[in-house]
Amino acid sequence: MSEKKIPYKIYLEEKEMPTAWYNVRADMKNKPAPLLNPGTLQPMKADELSHVFCEELVNQELDDTTAYFEIPEQIRDFYKMYRPSPLVRAYCLEKKLDTPAKIYYKFEGNNTSGSHKLNSAIAQAYYAKKQGLKGVTTETGAGQWGTALSMACSYFDLDCKVFMVKCSYEQKPFRREVMRTYGASVTPSPSSETEVGRKILAEHPGTSGSLGCAISEAVEAATSTEGYRYVLGSVLNQVLLHQSVIGLETKAALDKYGIKPDIIIGCAGGGSNLGGLISPFMGEKLRGEADYRIIAVEPASCPSFTRGTYAYDFCDTGKVCPLAKMYTLGCDFMPAPNHAGGLRYHGMSSTLSQLYHDGLMEATSVKQTDVFAAAEQFARVEGILPAPESSHAIRVAIDEALKCKETGEEKTIVFGLTGTGYFDMVAYEKFHDGVMSDYIPTDEEIKSYTDKLPKVD
Ligand SMILES: *Cc1c(COP(=O)(O)O)cnc(C)c1O
Repeated sequence: MSEKKIPYKIYLEEKEMPTAWYNVRADMKNKPAPLLNPGTLQPMKADELSHVFCEELVNQELDDTTAYFEIPEQIRDFYKMYRPSPLVRAYCLEKKLDTPAKIYYKFEGNNTSGSHKLNSAIAQAYYAKKQGLKGVTTETGAGQWGTALSMACSYFDLDCKVFMVKCSYEQKPFRREVMRTYGASVTPSPSSETEVGRKILAEHPGTSGSLGCAISEAVEAATSTEGYRYVLGSVLNQVLLHQSVIGLETKAALDKYGIKPDIIIGCAGGGSNLGGLISPFMGEKLRGEADYRIIAVEPASCPSFTRGTYAYDFCDTGKVCPLAKMYTLGCDFMPAPNHAGGLRYHGMSSTLSQLYHDGLMEATSVKQTDVFAAAEQFARVEGILPAPESSHAIRVAIDEALKCKETGEEKTIVFGLTGTGYFDMVAYEKFHDGVMSDYIPTDEEIKSYTDKLPKVD
């Protein structure tokens, strides 16, 4: 097929949309390590997990062997309101960079929550409703997950209680109002509403909060309220499973035009968009059917993959959640408050951690100011104002395209553009005013946290 025929945007038709999520763990020889009970350090069983999570989500969490899970019809119908998301050929960016590389991005920002998180939020709300629950609790950092979940809960008429990391609560009042528009209640974390919140406040008065701490509060609120469960927007296997819709659509769109990517790039906070984007490609790689370079991009200020330790750690600061084996900076690690946007989590999906550990994917870290420079360059030619998180992937996609310019290679690059950045204009402002800084933790600092990792053999 000739180059010219590839449109700016490749859409799938409704009948071409995925009808099942793909579980990459089914094709992994080395399965991700199981979650451990924080008290006994034994693998968590379904009945233990179901105090915290919805039953069907527990099944999805623990299932390492079923390759495909059918997407329930009500979720597919909801997806149809904002999916398929476009796979865009970045012709204008290619031209601006004067690169022979072919660049594509999968744009997940075309819904009110402004990010890919709605893909899993709607699934989690569906299973909570199906179980007959009254509501769910969660945490949110930058606010995208809370927004997505509040939309999903209002669709299924479920109560939604969000603990929002305090610095975001104060810096992003508009996010908070979107959540309240959808009927959610929003509490700044740490709060005095929970025991763990009161404890953290007593130990660290004036703290700006962290995701790990908000998770502890949300779990406590769920487990101490009748008819509630806790839901999480990233990191967990079930979330990667739901996000596989991104990768399945991407692959279907590329296949339609006979395009085979050389490099696949995604930003990595807890790993859900990246895990979802790469899953069908990683599946081919694991089965020996194809090979791809896969790159995770993380902030230099919160570098779990590139400078963390691969070990069992708590998923939350309050140490109430199960332990996961993952690349981690230690559950007490708090990224510098000057770090903008998400990607602040201390750990990483255990599935991606295993894949990275086995050499099946690469990781790199980028500095905040370089990220915003890429964001601005992208916005100016492609017309989309990207989220700071997504811009980590843009940075590396541009860098790879510029390498192609030097070598003359016509590589095909696909990256995940996870969302829009309209609620991040304070960070953009700092960048434009030249007052944005690049905080990079020292080795000693990281070691002071990873030295305290729980001892598990
Ligand atoms: C939450 C978020 C991310 C990072 O989360 P992952 O689970 O690593 O995908 C990236 N981009 C946007 C826009 C987000 O909202």
